[in-house]
Amino acid sequence: GRLQDASLLQLGAYVGGAFVPAKSARTFEVLDPASGSVLGSAPDMGKEDVEAAVVAAEQAFRSWREQPAKERGAVLRRWYDLVMSNREDLATIMTSECGKPLPEARAEVAYAASFLEFFAEESRRVEGCVHTPPSSSKRVFTIKQAVGVSALVTPWNFPAAMITRKAAPAIAAGCSVVVKPAEATPFTAIALAELSRRAGVPAGVYNVVTCSRGNAAEVGGALCADERVKKLSFTGSTAVGKQLMAQCAGTVKRVSLELGGNAPFIVFDDADLDAAVEGLMASKFRNAGQTCVCANRILVQDGVYEKMTQLVVERVKRLKMGHGLEEGTTIGPLISDAGASKVEKQVEDAKAKGGKVIFGGNRKENNFFEPTVITEVDPSMMCAEQETFGPLVPLMRFKTEEEAVRIANDTKAGLAAYVYTRDLGRSWRVSEALEYGMVGVNEGIISSDIAPFGGVKESGLGREGSKFGIEEYLEMKYICLGLG
Ligand code: ADP
Repeated sequence: GRLQDASLLQLGAYVGGAFVPAKSARTFEVLDPASGSVLGSAPDMGKEDVEAAVVAAEQAFRSWREQPAKERGAVLRRWYDLVMSNREDLATIMTSECGKPLPEARAEVAYAASFLEFFAEESRRVEGCVHTPPSSSKRVFTIKQAVGVSALVTPWNFPAAMITRKAAPAIAAGCSVVVKPAEATPFTAIALAELSRRAGVPAGVYNVVTCSRGNAAEVGGALCADERVKKLSFTGSTAVGKQLMAQCAGTVKRVSLELGGNAPFIVFDDADLDAAVEGLMASKFRNAGQTCVCANRILVQDGVYEKMTQLVVERVKRLKMGHGLEEGTTIGPLISDAGASKVEKQVEDAKAKGGKVIFGGNRKENNFFEPTVITEVDPSMMCAEQETFGPLVPLMRFKTEEEAVRIANDTKAGLAAYVYTRDLGRSWRVSEALEYGMVGVNEGIISSDIAPFGGVKESGLGREGSKFGIEEYLEMKYICLGLG
């Protein structure tokens, strides 16, 4: 009843330009994580539905890639306009299925839309080159061509942006896509499909295959095994990412992966502490701590440890936990029982190993977890070794710059890192030394359509957003012309 345009909901999956049920006619329930109540149901698709989607996508690819880039850009631009004009409804759907506070959902809709806008512009800037030939009888060129049908497997924590960050560059490049959204958040993906239809994205260019967690392996397996699918782009857990990468080996698919992080947030003695706390709150508590770039290990230099701790607690006290649609809520629930249990386990483990819970620490009804601050955390604790994906602030101490960098790099993850210092030389030295794909210096919010998002080490492969993001959906072809 809260939607201005109810036709954005309960449409089915989206294959070949039509909203459809699963061929098996099965459905699965989608829950509001804040209350546990059922929001609705979506088609529980299987490999026969993947087959239909791939056929539609391949068919559409043949004509879509022939469209002038300017036309592809114009379609994406109309999709951008429609996402922005339906922002409130999309945000409401998103908050209902993923739990994030409504203001955050509105911000995500704008962030998601920004990729449609950016790649609408970027479609015309795909450029090849003319090389200096090795002899006077040859001419040598490089051209860029769309990869082909791309499978996009996405998570629940950014139900819209993780789709558009992949789909926009793919579609701008001339590819068609089959999206497999997370089981927790299919409705946002489907609402985007309806808006794509209204924008004039041709049938088969954007497809959405929904399924339950139980069918995810079958659907994912079918997409990875299919020869007609030329590219997989995945955002999600490291474990599933590795599995899909292995499955793509069979057809030597191009693969882009955005996997888990374990972001260090380093605060040096010389930092502006108010700015550091501000940045920490923004980074740590976005989506209740459920983002892959959330600060995960807060490393604070000895000289400011007590002061920083005090400032953090003052700010954390002001967070308001509640349903994301309630006015004033700044922190929603965790997505699932498993998500809340993980945080609970990390808190117990930290306590057992000498950590001090100085604020919060308790699990609440449904999947809510109190914003929590723990001091005297050391690298052996679970909360330092693993990505928390929850509202826990573990404060660790360090003495020297060298020690901070060593602790920060002592992980298999390498997505985002944050550094707070007013020493220019140190900011550059530490940025270079950090084994991460992205570094925020005196800044806690780093994601943007214009910048390359991605990780090193086990955090992934490839980059999304920016002029580099479209390269993930382009093949390079070298043409050698003999003049005879
Ligand atoms: P999270 O722990 O955040 O749910 P996952 O990696 O489990 O992260 O999920 C990310 C996406 O991967 C979701 O769309 C999910 O349904 C999908 N997924 C999970 N398991 C598999 C699998 N075995 N094959 C393909 N996709 C999967």
